[in-house]
Amino acid sequence: MTPSDFSFDKEHIWHPYTSLIAPLPCIGVVEAHGVELVLDDGRRLIDGMSSWWSTIHGYNHPRLNEAAKNQIDKMSHVMFGGITHPSAVSMCRKLVEMTAKPLDRVFISDSGSVAVEVALKMAIQYWVAKGQPEKSQMLTIEHGYHGDTFAAMSVCDPVNGMHDLFTGVLAKQRFATAPQIGFDDEWRDSDIAPLKALFEAHHQHAAAIILEPIVQGAGGMRMYHPNYLKAVRELCDEYDVLLICDEIATGFGRTGKLFAYEHSEVVPDILCLGKALTGGYMSLAATITTAAIGEMICKTKAGVFMHGPTFMGNPLACAVATESLTMLQEGDWQTQVPHIESQLKHHFSKFEQLPHVQDVRVLGAIGVIELVEPVNMATIQAAFVEQGIWVRPFGKLVYIMPQYIISDDELETLCNGIYKVITRAC
Ligand SMILES: *Cc1c(COP(=O)(O)O)cnc(C)c1O
Repeated sequence: MTPSDFSFDKEHIWHPYTSLIAPLPCIGVVEAHGVELVLDDGRRLIDGMSSWWSTIHGYNHPRLNEAAKNQIDKMSHVMFGGITHPSAVSMCRKLVEMTAKPLDRVFISDSGSVAVEVALKMAIQYWVAKGQPEKSQMLTIEHGYHGDTFAAMSVCDPVNGMHDLFTGVLAKQRFATAPQIGFDDEWRDSDIAPLKALFEAHHQHAAAIILEPIVQGAGGMRMYHPNYLKAVRELCDEYDVLLICDEIATGFGRTGKLFAYEHSEVVPDILCLGKALTGGYMSLAATITTAAIGEMICKTKAGVFMHGPTFMGNPLACAVATESLTMLQEGDWQTQVPHIESQLKHHFSKFEQLPHVQDVRVLGAIGVIELVEPVNMATIQAAFVEQGIWVRPFGKLVYIMPQYIISDDELETLCNGIYKVITRAC
C-alpha cells in the first residue's frame, strides 16, 4: 500500500467506532495465512483476535477456499424469495443437526445485528399471534452486547452501550444487574435474585429475555456461572417469557462446548448465530427457533414472518459455511479448544501478580486480562505490532480469542508479547 492509500483511508473511510477528526493510524494487511496477518511492508503478525471471533479455522484455509471457488463458478448469488438452492439447504441441515433438538427452523440473514433484530421480531410477533400483544418488551442483563442496529442497541449495556446518545429513540427495555459469580466460582442463588425480581415485576409485558450465554463479549468480556443460565431458563418457563440466546460470539466451540448454552444443559427458544458461521470468510448469520414458535409466528394477520433481506441465504456464503460446519463436525476443535484453554491458563497466570491487573479470566479459547486503568489505544496498538502480534484491546480489557489451529509456540509468542507490552505500558 502506498502512503497515498493510507492518507485516502484516513480522510475518507470510516472504520469501526472511529473518529473522522482524530483517527488512529491503521496497519495495512495485504494477505493472511493460518494464524498470521501479512502487512504491506512484509512483516507478519500472529493474530490473537480471529478477526473478532470469526476465523476459527485460520485464514486462507484450503478447504474453505475450495468451497468458495466451487460455488462461485456455479452462482455467487440468487434471490431467496421463491427460490431455494443446495448451499442453503446443506448449511441449514447442518445447523439443525448441530443445535439442540427442538431448534430446527432457520432464518438466514447477513450479519449478527440483523440476526438479533430477527430474534426480537420473532419474539414480538409470537406474542401478537398468541393474542398477547402487550408482551412486547425485552428483558436483559447489564454488560450485554447484541449489535449496533436500533433494536440490538436497545438491549446492549446501558452504560457501555449507546443509550445516552440515542435516548428517546431506543426502545425502553428492562435491565437486571449482571451475574457476579464467575464460571468456576462457587454458586449462590443470590446471583439470580435481581433477575428474578425483574421477571416478577415485568413478565406481563415481556416478550423475551435476550442474553449471551456464559460469556458476555463486547460488553465486558465477563464469564458467568452455568447455574445462572439454568435459573434463567426456569424463570422463562415459570413466567412465560421466551429465552433468546445470542451465541454470535460464543458459538461454534469457542467456550469449549459447541454452543455455550450446553454448559448449562438448557435449550433456548431462539438462538442467534453469526461471526464464525462461515469460518470468518463472509458475513452471514442465522436465527433458529422451534417448530412450535415458528408456526405460531405465522398465525398473525400477516400470515408470514415479516422479514426478508435481499441477500438472504447468499449461496457463496452458505457454501463456505457448510464446509466450515463440516470441519467442526469432524471434531478437531474438541481437542484444540481445551488445549488452548490449558495453555492460556498457564501463560496468563503470570499476569495475576501484576499490580495494574485487576482480573484474569480464561474459558475455552478465550483469554481476558482486565486492567485497573483503560489502555491508551494509540500507543498500546503500536506496541503489540512491534512485538509481532495483533491484539486489539478496548477500555480496560486486553483479550484474545485465537484461531483453533494456533500452535503452542505461536500461542506462547502471543502471550509473551502481551506480557511485555503490559508490563512496560503500565
Ligand atoms: C458481534 C456480535 C453481534 C453483532 O454482530 P455483527 O455481525 O457485528 O452485526 C451481536 N451479538 C454478539 C454477542 C456479538 O458478539
